[in-house]
Amino acid sequence: MSAVQHVTVLGATGSIGLSTLDVIARHPERYQVFALTGFSRLAELQVLCVQHRPRYAVVPDDRSALDLQGRLRAAGLATEVLVGEEGLCAVAADAAVDYVMAAIVGAAGLKPTLAAVQAGKKVLLANKEALVMSGVLFMQAVKHSGAVLLPIDSEHNAIFQCLPGDYARGLQAIGVRRVLLTASGGPFRETPLAELERVTPEQACAHPNWSMGRKISVDSASMMNKGLEMIEACWLFDASPDQIEVVIHRQSVIHSLVDYVDGSVLAQLGNPDMRTPIAHALAWPERIDSGVSALDLFTVGRLDFERPDEQRFPCLRLAREAAQAGGSAPAMLNAANEVAVEAFLQRRIRFTDIARMIESVLNARPVRAVEALDAVFEADAQARELAAQWLAVR
Ligand code: NAD
Ligand code: MG
Repeated sequence: MSAVQHVTVLGATGSIGLSTLDVIARHPERYQVFALTGFSRLAELQVLCVQHRPRYAVVPDDRSALDLQGRLRAAGLATEVLVGEEGLCAVAADAAVDYVMAAIVGAAGLKPTLAAVQAGKKVLLANKEALVMSGVLFMQAVKHSGAVLLPIDSEHNAIFQCLPGDYARGLQAIGVRRVLLTASGGPFRETPLAELERVTPEQACAHPNWSMGRKISVDSASMMNKGLEMIEACWLFDASPDQIEVVIHRQSVIHSLVDYVDGSVLAQLGNPDMRTPIAHALAWPERIDSGVSALDLFTVGRLDFERPDEQRFPCLRLAREAAQAGGSAPAMLNAANEVAVEAFLQRRIRFTDIARMIESVLNARPVRAVEALDAVFEADAQARELAAQWLAVR
């Protein structure tokens, strides 16, 4: 690669955003930060701006923009502060940008991520909720614009690494029997079922292998994360839900596998650190140092596998059913889950209510076709409203 590549980091203050900036800072000759965006931790965003000197920063409202703009000027920076979703879409689609890291959490990331796709960028997709919500339309936009979609989710990045370059010909054409999606099983893999009613947000967020944002940590504990990832994999690799098998692998060393018709199974392994898939996607098809230490198999010692228990993890079943139903179902599943996770984090519902609430929302309305983005946002809004009603009358 010759010229310096310009990178927008959507969700720069989050766990993936910070890991991305860590990798970028190791390669100043290759990458330059074009824009950084943040939503809440704006003091941290300011520090990141001082470190990376982006052309733009994006914040949620005018008041915080004024505040940050003043502080950045005082620090001698020329960074211009933009506001809201419009600002996010602008820095995702700007002609000067080569790479967009889509690392906003949840449905809020859909429009800016799509803006990057429509502008034909190299899109590093961490924001799985965006793809889950809008699958068909998202993938059509990728095809139409010629954007390069590079998976950041460690499992999907692993699968991408285990597939041949021409995998878009179709899984059958390239001889894939199935995709094995690994899951750690989260902090409650072995918790007695009767105790799940009483687990706290702190316990749910204490993931055994990965350090992540709070929403995805709760999703990992309920295994909704794996459900969303199953849907994500269906879109990324043009697979049907029954071509994807979830395997619990508690060490999180194998990040996923591809099973070929000749009996070969290819896997990608590494220490559980998101800087590996981030560096892979940033440098692809080259390889660069990510700062992650070499995998020591002697320390790992053993690799275990088990079948997931859908009694324990009903969210897996709900996600599979939504994937099979298609249409508005995945967007409703995602929205209901976002409301449920937030309510659990605020201690308004129990951990086990998360699946109950999602199931009730999904059963409340028939699945509808989604032929345009409006229908996706309608499904999202409807599910949030139904979820709010469920919370109110419970
Ligand atoms: P996080 O909570 O640490 O960070 C989220 C980022 O999004 C922050 O920068 C926050 O300011 C921003 N944000 C939140 N709400 C916003 C809104 N309404 N508008 C604009 N910006 C908003 O989350 P994370 O763990 O970094 O995860 C980010 C995404 O990456 C999620 O979709 C997650 O599923 C995915 N992902 C994360 C990991 C991981 O290891 N953390 C792994 C795989 C995939
Ligand atoms: Mg993952």
